[in-house]
Amino acid sequence: MPVDDGSFDLVVIGGGPGGYTAALRAAQLGKRVACVEKDSTLGGTCLNIGCIPSKALLDSTELFHQIQAGASAHGIRVDGAAMDVDVMMDRKEKVVQGFTRGIEHLFRKSGVEWIRGAGRFIATDRIEAAGGDGGSREVTADTIIIATGSTAAALPGSPFDEKRILSSTGALALRRVPEHLIVIGGGVIGLELGSVWLRLGARVTVLEMAPTILPGLDADLSSGARAILGKQGFDFRTGVRVAGVEKGDSGVRVAIEGADPIEGEHVLVAIGRRPNTAGLDAEKLGIRFDRRGAVVVDRSFHTGVGKIYAVGDAIGGFMLAHEAMEEGMAAAAIAGGGIGVVDYDAIARVVYTWPEVASVGLSEEEARERGGNVLVGKFPFSASGRARAMNETEGFVKVVADAGSRRLLGVHILGARASDLISEASLAIAFQASVDDLALTVHAHPTLPEAIKEAALVAMGRAINL
Ligand code: FAD
Ligand code: NAD
Repeated sequence: MPVDDGSFDLVVIGGGPGGYTAALRAAQLGKRVACVEKDSTLGGTCLNIGCIPSKALLDSTELFHQIQAGASAHGIRVDGAAMDVDVMMDRKEKVVQGFTRGIEHLFRKSGVEWIRGAGRFIATDRIEAAGGDGGSREVTADTIIIATGSTAAALPGSPFDEKRILSSTGALALRRVPEHLIVIGGGVIGLELGSVWLRLGARVTVLEMAPTILPGLDADLSSGARAILGKQGFDFRTGVRVAGVEKGDSGVRVAIEGADPIEGEHVLVAIGRRPNTAGLDAEKLGIRFDRRGAVVVDRSFHTGVGKIYAVGDAIGGFMLAHEAMEEGMAAAAIAGGGIGVVDYDAIARVVYTWPEVASVGLSEEEARERGGNVLVGKFPFSASGRARAMNETEGFVKVVADAGSRRLLGVHILGARASDLISEASLAIAFQASVDDLALTVHAHPTLPEAIKEAALVAMGRAINL
């Protein structure tokens, strides 16, 4: 139960997925726990301005798109479908509110005290939380976990105003469909929020500095996604260097090196996120940061200073909510004297476009760079019975395995429900399965996951339905 003597077994700074999960796990382990959170709601980026609101808008707009463009193939005639953007935004806010209040409820139920305010270190076992209600409070803790997350990176010289120059937060809150949305960065946020506004009728131009969108994913995924999303109407310009952004009263003008400038109503800058670690006063304690500002930790999430740990976006990595949550649980267990391990090889990455993009483990390129022979099997959704029944035949499943040991190294999916399909692959990689394990496991017919089994059969040279 919360105590009011200002002394805790464990204090977490930050109430996002990394922090609230660490707090709840520590409470489960019998610790007296507090969570210092500066915002007026719990849940961090993910629940307030990230995963949940973006998926709410993606689901609304995908439904709209299906009604407009997908339903007719099934014989469903819908005339005059229209989107009420205000209703869509209000629904998104309700979904968010439900979750952020839910975390408050979980804290109360578990006896975790929420201390409102911005946390900073006074000493290795002492924190000040300032500004929550205008005052400040100091608390002492045996163990402290830094879970302060990340914030959107701005273009140098073009700070976000969330009116013309938008971060993801502004792009999640527009109440009017822009005529032309310019997106800088063809990564996950650019494609997800670009999809939201494209489906509602905006023209969307994506300026990506790398030679491909979604750089870092398996090359077949990036090129396949580019082809399909390009057909949907995205105007992709890759290998582009943005020279600057000029704001006017009614729009923005983006200058591009060696090409004509382009004009739009808003520019969404989605060029990555930076760890949110300034202002913690952690340097004075000897805590180290890398050049992007991420807290440097060892495999136990320990900073090397006192009993101070760090998790989630604050330590860099893929910057995913499920990664942050696993790290939060592991760090709380380790801090409590137990064992905590995160299997980074099994962490899936998903882009919630339609079709979706999902990936776990090594890409074919990474597997080949490591040397040795590589088995690759690819199965198109156009050959899947269920995908054809659904009229969702775009994309493929690709399986990558080591030819010698036959161990599964990676699975890459472009297609309907890839976000759900990828969990089988994460489990297989976590269990160190072979490509044969995947191929010889009976999958229900007709289902989309059969495409994973079929891709594994292709890798074994035993394709049946291809
Ligand atoms: P955060 O969620 O950023 O939480 C950190 C918290 O710490 C915040 O509440 C902040 O207010 C608080 N804080 C910071 N400094 C202090 C301080 N000094 N004192 C007190 N409190 C402080 N990931 C996915 O896995 N799937 C998705 O679909 C997905 N979609 C996303 C969509 C968008 C638009 C964005 C922006 C991100 C998305 N992410 C997604 C990423 C995901 O949101 C983050 O990886 C995740 O929130 C990281 O959790 P965290 O706890 O480390 O940090
Ligand atoms: P990102 O790293 O996914 O993509 C950024 C893109 O911008 C890259 O393709 C990069 O090459 C490009 N870029 C960088 N500087 C540029 C410049 N000056 N001009 C043009 N292009 C430039 O980052 P993001 O899309 O901003 O997302 C941030 C983080 O949030 C990611 O780490 C991601 O994991 C997380 N997130 C996850 C999800 C999800 O899991 N579905 C959704 C949204 C955000």
